[in-house]
Amino acid sequence: MWEHISVKTELMKRNLILENQALCVICNQKLDSVRHLSFTCDEVWKIWGRWCLDWKVNWVIHESPKFLFLAWNSLCVSNDKLKIWILVFYVITWSIWLLHNNIVLIIRNGIVISYMT
Ligand SMILES: [Zn+2]
Repeated sequence: MWEHISVKTELMKRNLILENQALCVICNQKLDSVRHLSFTCDEVWKIWGRWCLDWKVNWVIHESPKFLFLAWNSLCVSNDKLKIWILVFYVITWSIWLLHNNIVLIIRNGIVISYMT
């Protein structure tokens, strides 16, 4: 599953874009990889961290997204909340992917968004 996700580092490996064009669109600091986009991006990690904090779970980032997924599903949460716990993995990763794609579309279309404070 993970190897089929289209991220900029894959385009860079195929010499379709330059390294400076392969930065994460969310943080604009690190190369856009599946692992970075899904978990290690500072902004994305805040979401995972917040969820784990609310559930009082300590979670460590594994090198491989596949093992992260397996580790998530094997974390000890009570049986009555296990379905929610597993579902949230998909909700968060899907939401991050949608955010990523929305930012890419905004950049591609030159749309400027200003937020009122
Ligand atoms: Zn990032």
